[in-house]
Amino acid sequence: MVKTLDLRKVSMANLQKKKTVLLQGLPPLSELVRASFVKQFLTCGKKNCRCRRGFKHGPFFYLVQAAGAGRVRKFLLKTPAQRQQARTGIAAHLKWQRRLAEISEINTELLRRSAAGKGRA
Ligand SMILES: [Zn+2]
Repeated sequence: MVKTLDLRKVSMANLQKKKTVLLQGLPPLSELVRASFVKQFLTCGKKNCRCRRGFKHGPFFYLVQAAGAGRVRKFLLKTPAQRQQARTGIAAHLKWQRRLAEISEINTELLRRSAAGKGRA
């Protein structure tokens, strides 16, 4: 999860400054992919294939996505372009997730101070 920095010790001005920084440099939302990128080497069904002697086929690259209630969606990424798009989209999603969590933490702290009457947001 998010690194636990004690926001209670950060000044109001610095909280606002952190927020401004967090809102910058985010990848386009249109790229997001909530998934994992998985690399696998596989064995096939042929009896005398080299894969039976440890020389597995691959690598194969898959996009794996939790589809709710223990279900998983998985498919092969066939081309380098598809793999690059998947990596970019997954990285973008992770970046947004981290930023959203951090912004939420700052907003929570700002609200806490406001509710405690210790400052103005
Ligand atoms: Zn094989």
